[in-house]
Amino acid sequence: MNPRPTPKPVTPVLPKGICCSACGCRHFEVLYTRATPAGTIRRRRQCRHCGRRITTSERVGA
Ligand SMILES: [Zn+2]
Repeated sequence: MNPRPTPKPVTPVLPKGICCSACGCRHFEVLYTRATPAGTIRRRRQCRHCGRRITTSERVGA
C-alpha cells in the first residue's frame, strides 16, 4: 500500500517528446489520427502556440 499516492499530471501524450520546430513548445493539438496499412499511426498535429502543423508517425506496439 502506498500511503502517499502521487498525483498524475495531465499532459498530452507525445511520442519521443516532440516539440515545435518553430517555437519549441510541446503543446500540440491533434487534428486527426489515421492508421496506415504499414502498421503505423499518423497524427496531424497543430502547435497551440504558433499554429505550425506537423505530422507524426507512430509505430503501434505488438
Ligand atoms: Zn509552435
